[in-house]
Amino acid sequence: MSDTGNVTVEDELTDVVVIGGGPIGMFTAFYSAMRNLDVQLIDSLPQLGGQVAALYPEKPIHDIAGFVSGTGAELIANLQRQIDSFGDRIGVHVNEEVQGLERLDDGTFVLTTKQRSVHTRSVIVAIGSGAFAPRPLAIDYDRDGLDGSKVFYFVKRLADFAGKNVVVAGGGDAAIDWALELEKIAGHVTLVHRRDNFRALESSVAQLRESSVEILTPYKFVDVVNEDAGLRIDLAQVKGDAQPSLHVDALLVNYGFTSDNHLLRDWGLPVKRGDLQVNEYLETEVPGIYGVGDAVNYPGKVKLISAGFGEVPRAVNHLSEELYPDRKQPLHS
Ligand SMILES: Cc1cc2nc3c(=O)[nH]c(=O)nc-3n(C[C@H](O)[C@H](O)[C@H](O)COP(=O)(O)OP(=O)(O)OC[C@H]3O[C@@H](n4cnc5c(N)ncnc54)[C@H](O)[C@@H]3O)c2cc1C
Repeated sequence: MSDTGNVTVEDELTDVVVIGGGPIGMFTAFYSAMRNLDVQLIDSLPQLGGQVAALYPEKPIHDIAGFVSGTGAELIANLQRQIDSFGDRIGVHVNEEVQGLERLDDGTFVLTTKQRSVHTRSVIVAIGSGAFAPRPLAIDYDRDGLDGSKVFYFVKRLADFAGKNVVVAGGGDAAIDWALELEKIAGHVTLVHRRDNFRALESSVAQLRESSVEILTPYKFVDVVNEDAGLRIDLAQVKGDAQPSLHVDALLVNYGFTSDNHLLRDWGLPVKRGDLQVNEYLETEVPGIYGVGDAVNYPGKVKLISAGFGEVPRAVNHLSEELYPDRKQPLHS
């Protein structure tokens, strides 16, 4: 491995890079390691788990064989445990978006993120509907100066908000869940939403209304300005005249996520209606590049977790046979 500026160049040739650490990418990394392949797993979000971790960690999941009424977070924790059991074979890199994918003359690939470049013999694309990014506040504010210090789109450590005066923006499950979590440790929590109604579980909304969280609806954001001691947040009442300013320590924005998979085309891969086209082995028309999970389509495709899990052994066993023809196909583990 060598360092050129801030970019780490991995000199070693790995067997497979899995792009995307959603549930299907996580299982792909684990299953590949079980087949004695060396794996690098890369995800653009700060945590693994894809849609499940980012959008519905608390939702029960009922339609996965042998997983009885667990939540999304429990499913991801189980997958993480499987990955950890092969820690020496699996390199995990979060907060890194794969931007470049280049096929070399010898049939190997170089993948690049802003932080590293990885040399691999094969690639499994598990990017779902594409790289996730939190939907930003729809106003012009000093993102470079404030994001990560006073304006947040993720909670990395709840304890960082202890005793603080916090505004939570949004009206969905995530906004309400965070407002209720913050209420336990923050000095004061205000929830600001541009509608009177919330798009969240009735039980959570009821809990919110009984909590000490101050609810400001329907208000929209007009400006967010740095102040020595904190933030000034200027609001405007929707269909009203009120224009209050709040002086707080931090703003946590929960406007959901956007996704974008234009990179598939940039990488020269076959895409139809936004989906990667694969054959019965989940291989694209580019030898050595496979796709699994929500990212792909083929006749009979079902975009569910259990269906994506089922694709993984098909892809990995075929890939393993291509890379190591002398290795036998497994009957079972
Ligand atoms: C509200 C909701 C409820 C659902 N409930 C169920 C359910 O009960 N049962 C069920 O089976 N399914 C359910 N689904 C569908 C299920 O979540 C998806 O089928 C599943 O998440 C697909 O997994 P995946 O790993 O293919 O993709 P994703 O979960 O979308 O993960 C893809 C990952 O790839 C990363 N990524 C993308 N591009 C890049 C890049 N260029 N570089 C690095 N990383 C990248 C993304 O950040 C993301 O983490 C639900 C979906 C939603 C939205």
